[in-house]
Amino acid sequence: MLPTETAINEQRNREMATTRVAVLGATGSIGTAALGVLRHLDKVDPESRWRLFAASGHGNMKLLGESLDALEHPPEHVILSDPELAPHFSTRHPLGRSSGQSQVSLGPEALVRIASDPMVDVVVAAIVGRAGLESTLAAVEAGKRVALANKETMVVAGSLVQRMVQRSGGEVTPIDSEHSAIFQCLGEKCCKPKKLVLTASGGPFRRWTVEQMENATLKSALNHPTWDMGPKITIDSASMMNKALEVIEARWLFDLPAEAIEVVVHPQSIIHSMIEFDDGSVIAQLSPPDMRLPIQYALTYPRRLPCEVPTLDRSQRWDLTLEPVDRDRFPALDLGFEVARAGGTTGAVLNAANEAAVGLFLEDKIRFTDVVAACRTCLDNHTFDANPSLDTLLKLDTWARGEVRKMTQ
Ligand code: NAD
Ligand code: MG
Repeated sequence: MLPTETAINEQRNREMATTRVAVLGATGSIGTAALGVLRHLDKVDPESRWRLFAASGHGNMKLLGESLDALEHPPEHVILSDPELAPHFSTRHPLGRSSGQSQVSLGPEALVRIASDPMVDVVVAAIVGRAGLESTLAAVEAGKRVALANKETMVVAGSLVQRMVQRSGGEVTPIDSEHSAIFQCLGEKCCKPKKLVLTASGGPFRRWTVEQMENATLKSALNHPTWDMGPKITIDSASMMNKALEVIEARWLFDLPAEAIEVVVHPQSIIHSMIEFDDGSVIAQLSPPDMRLPIQYALTYPRRLPCEVPTLDRSQRWDLTLEPVDRDRFPALDLGFEVARAGGTTGAVLNAANEAAVGLFLEDKIRFTDVVAACRTCLDNHTFDANPSLDTLLKLDTWARGEVRKMTQ
């Protein structure tokens, strides 16, 4: 008697490996997309079942509950990282109906615990800003695959991450579209590239004058032409600080000096980045501006599986343009190259000053152009250390935030 289709499927399921994933920052733009990618992979991957083992959100319990309710299998662990939530959590059940099956942990320490949990195979680091640092470092130290969206960890502590990866045998697969593009172009890594060319959309102010940017409203800065992202990275894109952070991220991820990194404006956001070899040959990666593709590749690398992102429509004429960055109008980029060259404590200072100043701009307390000016001042005034410990980096993070706050007092 031939086995039924159900029996065959059951047998296949028993034989398949399971990849357990922790999505830290599951309520954000990248986190939500990552949950969708996991659902999709679980259907199309012939080699593995993809399970969301843990998911974290910060202060928005309702949003996290809704995201969890949309899942077929609730995760085993749910983390609410905002310490202020603890009292509310004990008085009423805040999360969606599926969360009854999950173990709920509170506070930022739970992020670190889950990131290094032996049951976890892959950590999607999708928390925004310095808040993602400890959990990302814990995942790297525990030898996980870290699908990295949280570029700020590389900016603050890139050299520490490099050393940790070597010690732990973990791996960092980039989610940031530019770094994913370079990672894809590098392929078999047979030749070291001469140059990494990061593309930048140019953001909403690509054609604005400095005077116009001085008076930019929050609404105009949040109006990104090609990408739909969380507020912090959207403001960073408008000032091109995002590209500055990505230059530093690339410096540490690919272990190349600042001199080997270039930035070029490509408003269509189709070419995600390029590498150039010694013989002048350039290899680029192209796809629609949709983060589900780099998220999926960071999870399945080196395998490629069908992806939900539609392929580029080649039946229409499309123009792909490249233009140089106007460094006078976008001085943030100079800071990125400066930090990529200097290393040491500069990344932590730049990142903290920028996060604090972007926070003030989001609260309408400073002007748009004050953000980069605040970063410049903090970099100039800090005590440089070429080989800082994590403790020194964290102290400087606090110092820089304090300096920026003084701007409004
Ligand atoms: P987002 O604002 O949409 O989401 C941020 C996530 O972090 C949320 O889940 C939030 O709950 C969590 N979070 C916020 N503060 C926290 C705290 N103090 N402690 C713990 N968790 C906290 O941000 P996003 O756009 O998804 O960006 C996330 C990261 O990915 C950033 O580092 C960003 O630079 C990077 N990235 C984003 C995109 C994109 O398309 N959105 C592209 C490339 C890289
Ligand atoms: Mg990017």
